Amino acid sequence: MAPVLGPEVKDLCLRCGACCTTGEDNHDCPFLVRIEDGKTFCAIYPIRLGVEISKGFHCGLRKDTKYDFENCPYNSSKPMLNKEL
Ligand code: SF4
Ligand code: SF4
Repeated sequence: MAPVLGPEVKDLCLRCGACCTTGEDNHDCPFLVRIEDGKTFCAIYPIRLGVEISKGFHCGLRKDTKYDFENCPYNSSKPMLNKEL
């Protein structure tokens, strides 16, 4: 599923999937799909919702999650061009 973003939004996401994991063991969201090239996509949503989607799993907006994912363009040291990702 391709991301659906407004024309004003610049999507810098590298589709690593790191922000779609949770818990101390960083297990994948049940809707995270990993593909052969190492990238990921969401099976159900074109954008993150910012709500709890299943028991104990919160599909948080990127701006609300921790910002220390390796190489993520949205880390706190990088400009946040997409405020709603
Ligand atoms: S951690 Fe960053 S690069 Fe990786 S999927 Fe999330 S927003 Fe995209
Ligand atoms: S439902 Fe949310 S947390 Fe889960 S894979 Fe899709 S975008 Fe990521």
